Amino acid sequence: MTTPNRPRLVVIGSGWAGFYLAEHIDLNAYSISLISPRRTSAYTPLLASAAVGLFNFYLAEEPVRSKSRCALRFIKANVLDINFQTKTCRCAPAFDEDPQLANDEFDVDYDYLLMAPGCVPNTFDTPGVSENAIFIKNVSDAMKVRKTLFDLLEKASLPNVTPERVRELLHIAIVGGGPTGIELTAELDDLCQDELRYTYPLVAGYVSISVYDVAPHILSTYDNKLHEYAASQLQRRHIDVAPNTRIEKADDQALYIKDKGRVPYGMLIWATGNKNVPLLEKIDVKLSQRGLKRILADHHLRVFKSGATGEVYDGVFALGDAADVEGASLPTTAEAAVQKARYLVQNFNALAKSLAKSGPCPAADSPDPSSPITTTGSDAFSKPFAYSQKQLVSYIGAHDGVIAGKGPNHEGWTGRSAWLAWRSGSLMWNRNWRSRVVIVFTWVLNRVWGKEIARM
Ligand SMILES: Cc1cc2nc3c(=O)[nH]c(=O)nc-3n(C[C@H](O)[C@H](O)[C@H](O)COP(=O)(O)OP(=O)(O)OC[C@H]3O[C@@H](n4cnc5c(N)ncnc54)[C@H](O)[C@@H]3O)c2cc1C
Repeated sequence: MTTPNRPRLVVIGSGWAGFYLAEHIDLNAYSISLISPRRTSAYTPLLASAAVGLFNFYLAEEPVRSKSRCALRFIKANVLDINFQTKTCRCAPAFDEDPQLANDEFDVDYDYLLMAPGCVPNTFDTPGVSENAIFIKNVSDAMKVRKTLFDLLEKASLPNVTPERVRELLHIAIVGGGPTGIELTAELDDLCQDELRYTYPLVAGYVSISVYDVAPHILSTYDNKLHEYAASQLQRRHIDVAPNTRIEKADDQALYIKDKGRVPYGMLIWATGNKNVPLLEKIDVKLSQRGLKRILADHHLRVFKSGATGEVYDGVFALGDAADVEGASLPTTAEAAVQKARYLVQNFNALAKSLAKSGPCPAADSPDPSSPITTTGSDAFSKPFAYSQKQLVSYIGAHDGVIAGKGPNHEGWTGRSAWLAWRSGSLMWNRNWRSRVVIVFTWVLNRVWGKEIARM
């Protein structure tokens, strides 16, 4: 039954964190609005596989709007600023094809605000990168990878192209040797070693992949043995693994590398990490000072006011990549984003239940501003958020993977079983059972008849 005068709960962002909140907070107890420029949420761990045709693109994302949650209000806009005194978000409509509409700004009022705007890719201000690189964040980026690859293969197949130019066109440069860059490398290499050899027999042999990273190792979050194993396996497959490499600039045809000079490429993929979204520069909250700028929250995910008072805002929470818990330094992963979202869902739903019994839900006018979450007669928010680190798993291609911290002596684990664990884990990232079934079905079809990549 819907509670009359439900408190207005506003979620910023439709990524892993925002989407989970929108899916699970009790719509009968709260009037929920989700504000985001994107009406879908990407299953980011599935993007590399979707890019190489392991399954259809639509299976790598989930729409925010659904029949079962029709009471959820979705607003396709960017939050430009937040007034924490008046409890208002200033918003601008977000329509790439109609940029003029962004001038028609409007306000959205809240009683509770849950901020999950994520991060944007970090180019480290390297000249030419924003204009020329592909960033892997959403399904549209994965589509761009696939389209670019096929365009390059067709260009290279033209009869008047010299072998030297074919080599340049079919050089795929991936900058960033973290899990995202390596998984994409692995999937693209699998595709080249398999389907492309048959569909593009004259040019597939010219495809080369380089992985550049400024750090001394790729997959540096894994221990020495595992990241050395990963590098050696990739090199065995003739992938150019180049750690200690600084990219100085890029243009539309080449990278310029310190101590190496001009390196032509056909496709440049940039996967070097995160930077804060512009919203964080505007709002008056406490931010972490070292490394990535993130909103600082207490152990109940409540946002600190700026300054050193240690006060938190009334009813304002932050989670996901854009936020950290003070003193905890949590990773910027979907795993952490979902765990925080689950914590808020459980507590908001518990709060709603207990208040339904004891009286109206506290809204904007919480009687005591120093205790913004009114939990009278309720266990909600009595326990702090606790993060539990799951195993690190990465795919390195050719049915091989690395898993940290398992196996004899907790030394980690590699090989086919690690790949299988990664593959089944990647399936579980998809939260929709219907999509999971379709993905498994597509894998089976691919195994029997091969991928239909050229058709997709
Ligand atoms: C290719 C790839 C593979 C990955 N693989 C893994 C993996 O295997 N395991 C893992 O744990 N993590 C993985 N990650 C990391 C994971 O995707 C992120 O940690 C996760 O997306 C963070 O979730 P989030 O909700 O905080 O932010 P996001 O998912 O980035 O979502 C942020 C949302 O906020 C919106 N937004 C931004 N600014 C505003 C604004 N001003 N107003 C309104 N909305 C705004 C954005 O459009 C977006 O919808 C991967 C990431 C990538 C890119």
